[in-house]
Amino acid sequence: MSVKKTESQWRAQLSPLQFAVLRQSATEPSGLSRLQDGSNGVYHCVGCDNPLYKADQKFNSGCGWPSFYEEIPGSIRLLEDNSHGMQRTEMRCSRCDGHLGHVFKGEGFGGDKDERHCVNGIVLQFKPLE
Ligand SMILES: [Zn+2]
Repeated sequence: MSVKKTESQWRAQLSPLQFAVLRQSATEPSGLSRLQDGSNGVYHCVGCDNPLYKADQKFNSGCGWPSFYEEIPGSIRLLEDNSHGMQRTEMRCSRCDGHLGHVFKGEGFGGDKDERHCVNGIVLQFKPLE
C-alpha cells in the first residue's frame, strides 16, 4: 500500500515546515522537537499515518533531534545520501516516500542493532496506547 499525492495536496495537508522536511528533505532546526518521554504509544508519519516507531524505542542522544534505536519492521526504507559532502543513510517512510531523517550506525548508544535513527520530530505524530 502506497500513498501518492500531488504537491498541492501535500501543501494543503502539511505545515510549511512539515512539507519542507517530508517532501523536500529539509532538516528541522536542532532542538525544535522535544518529544515526551516515558509514554506508551506509537509515533506515526504525519504524511500518511504509517506507524513508524514505538515510544519505548526512543532515547535521548543529546543530538538535538528525536532518536530511536530501530523502526517498526517494514515502516521505513533506506537510501544512500551523498548530499552536503557527506555519506549518510537517508530514511524515508515506506508508505508515502516522505523524508524522515538519517540513520547512523555504530555510535555505541545501544539497542540491538547499535543504530541511531535521527528523525525530524515535526513529521511524527504521537498516538498514545491505553
Ligand atoms: Zn508516510
